[in-house]
Amino acid sequence: MRALVFTGPGAMELLDMPEPDVADGDVLVHVRSAGICGSELHGARHPGFRVPPLIMGHEFAGVSDDGNPVIINPILSCGRCDLCARGLRQICRHRAIIGVHRAGGFAERVGVPRSALVPLPDRLAWDAAATVEPAANAVHAWQLAGGARDKRVAVLGCGAIGLLCLLVALADGATSVDVTDLAPGRADAARRLGASAASAAPEGEYDVIIDAAGTAVTRAQSVAHQRPGGTAVWLGLNEPPAAFDGQDLVRGEKRVLGSFAYSDEEFARATALIREWDLAWAAGYPLAEGAGIFTELMNGGLDPVKALLRP
Ligand SMILES: [Zn+2]
Ligand SMILES: [Zn+2]
Repeated sequence: MRALVFTGPGAMELLDMPEPDVADGDVLVHVRSAGICGSELHGARHPGFRVPPLIMGHEFAGVSDDGNPVIINPILSCGRCDLCARGLRQICRHRAIIGVHRAGGFAERVGVPRSALVPLPDRLAWDAAATVEPAANAVHAWQLAGGARDKRVAVLGCGAIGLLCLLVALADGATSVDVTDLAPGRADAARRLGASAASAAPEGEYDVIIDAAGTAVTRAQSVAHQRPGGTAVWLGLNEPPAAFDGQDLVRGEKRVLGSFAYSDEEFARATALIREWDLAWAAGYPLAEGAGIFTELMNGGLDPVKALLRP
């Protein structure tokens, strides 16, 4: 079968690969659409969390070998540790992720644990189905923030996660959602989706700030532009450093929360929300073009906010 394989730092190749292993308890999935995540563009340049050779792809949907359309929930948890027992399977001590720690969706077929399959609702398009996973990240961030109703919100970074955090905030009844991005095209996409203002950097003060970029600069902004007693939620993973004014955080009783993945309930909510949304900022491409598409995205030469590969 054909697969897009991460073969070394900065190298993605379309290769003929052996058929996937389908272990006991696994199901073969015929992939229909798989989204390329910003974390993968970063991970291909800086191997560490992801070790080559690897078929990436943790945002995908397809048809199971027994003929059922499915969305994959790629977070695998042990079900036995103290955190799983508390219902926090997204931070399971033995967490593994499909497409990170085992082969993922940038392939014609992939074997996944049966527990990772979520039934695809009727009439949900394949690209929308593959966008449920990043949308679930946005639902979780808002869950941690205590919801968006009647709040003045800022979203820093208008990649797919930033736009989805904007859409969840609007669906929840935020008073206003301002966004920032350095790329004018992305700020325009956010405006079309309902952002009240778009700029290169935040101005003024917000009840909740979502950092969907994850740089030292946006992390500092998320504290500086948070009202006293407000909340910042960080999802972005662009770089490790965080430099913010700790005295400001103390004196203003400000809060910073890390957000990773989602619960099963949040994944289900994302599945229900996604069909309401305009996903014109996402574009699908044949898997055969995957190496070029991935490389251009990695080097900033291509502009859809989200690219999906269709095997
Ligand atoms: Zn992702
Ligand atoms: Zn666990």
